[in-house]
Amino acid sequence: MNTVDFDDQGEGVQRNCGFAATEKLFRIEPPPKFIYSCNSQAEFSFGNYHRDMSASSSPSIVLSFEDARRVVEEHATEIRAACFKDAHTQNTETLDLLSAAGHVLAESVAADRDIPPFPRATRDGYAVRSADLAKLPATLDVIAEIKAGARPGEIPSQVKSGQAAAIMTGAPVPAGADAIVMVEYTSRQDKPAAIARVEISRSVAPGENIVARGAEAKSGSPLLAAGCQLNHAAIALAASVGKSRLEVYVRPRVAVLTTGDEIVDLDTEPGPTQIRNSNSYSLAVQIQQAGGEPVLLPIAPDEPKRLRELIVEGLRPDLLLMTGGVSMGRYDLVEQVLAEMKAEFFFTGAKIQPGRPVVFGRVRASKGDRLSAASGAQKKPAPEGRKTSPLSRTYFFGLPGNPVSTMVTFELFARPMLKALAGMLPRQLIFLHAKLKSEIRSKTGLKRFLPATLSGEFENAKVELVRWQGSGDIAATASANCYIVIPPDRENIPAGDWVAVLMR
Ligand code: AMP
Ligand code: MG
Repeated sequence: MNTVDFDDQGEGVQRNCGFAATEKLFRIEPPPKFIYSCNSQAEFSFGNYHRDMSASSSPSIVLSFEDARRVVEEHATEIRAACFKDAHTQNTETLDLLSAAGHVLAESVAADRDIPPFPRATRDGYAVRSADLAKLPATLDVIAEIKAGARPGEIPSQVKSGQAAAIMTGAPVPAGADAIVMVEYTSRQDKPAAIARVEISRSVAPGENIVARGAEAKSGSPLLAAGCQLNHAAIALAASVGKSRLEVYVRPRVAVLTTGDEIVDLDTEPGPTQIRNSNSYSLAVQIQQAGGEPVLLPIAPDEPKRLRELIVEGLRPDLLLMTGGVSMGRYDLVEQVLAEMKAEFFFTGAKIQPGRPVVFGRVRASKGDRLSAASGAQKKPAPEGRKTSPLSRTYFFGLPGNPVSTMVTFELFARPMLKALAGMLPRQLIFLHAKLKSEIRSKTGLKRFLPATLSGEFENAKVELVRWQGSGDIAATASANCYIVIPPDRENIPAGDWVAVLMR
């Protein structure tokens, strides 16, 4: 059995059954009066933070998971519409077919001819007139053998009544024949061409085992639309219509800003109380997989001036992802700095675990900020740090710093924004279902996304939580391959129940 406890950020600690749970309750917000009415910030309650909020404070907008997700999806849809009205509003590049895999298509791809270009046999057998097999058994004269790739001169001009043509899968069906009747061969010697007459003892329906010319696509009809991410099937489709090069959108750039006085990067030997930066690297991979290009910024200390400089730097690309510094602590300064920059906040928390303090908003760097960044200690931004989108304000996410929280909140919220910026058409989040291998004991109030392992074979998939020490436990999470999604009202889920699963 697995039991899940909580720390003060809604971050979970899973214990073995029998441990005395040291449960601290997280802060529960009153429900917002307005759900995601972005211009109505004054209507929201303001957080009672411990830190000095005299300069500016961010609103406290804590949404259910579903509402938070919908807010993100709405903005993603708006961005997609604004940035990708037509291919000319966004930068594109033309790539070789294979290099285009994983990119987002910026053109539409149409059939260059009817598909299939001729009526195609889908089975080895005899091309016949189905009416000839109304009375069984029927004996037919075999007049030809038609192989796949047979040239027009090798195809009989007409299959008449009483006749059949031996035909192979993928070969053009001759005129007159309206069906392929399959034959069971007992050996290769039995192959249809070896026989001059054939006795057939099964009937066949008109059209059976034939794909009509143009049935899959008519010449000129659209096959791939701009906005689709090119996976292996889309690449195959492009290949099938002769496209050796494809026009794709230039990948959006995503700034990654890790915060925390305790965080050091990989080139530094950590002191006894320091932590190596892992979040920038998990995010970089997630960004790449979602069709973006990560731009890693230096680590920001928990100090407002330098943090602000780096946030300004992070607003140059298309999207800014920050990790850490969004909790309620005295040194969690991300929201405060963004509020001072007059950011719009769409939510400042979601009722999920892990990742409850997640923040979503957008901001425009002021002129002064741009100047101070350029004249500050930071070196000039590299050209690859510049926006590819025409948006004047940059969207940002403040992701909680615990490594599993960072990974989960990227999946749940940042991914759809990034996909929209990449030009992809919006898609709703879908959970799969699998049978639970061992009982889960949880607590109500938050929707939980807990690292789990899906195992079993064929139809016998089973899922169970991995044992973890909470949302800092990268090792446990790396051993998982999915997340079990626990609804906020579930306390005990017995083994054998169907549970929702978010695949990774
Ligand atoms: P915070 O959200 O800033 O309160 O951080 C929560 C926890 O995550 C702390 O234990 C941090 O040390 C840890 N953490 C924050 N950023 C990172 C990072 N980039 N890599 C690994 N751990 C981190
Ligand atoms: Mg921190």
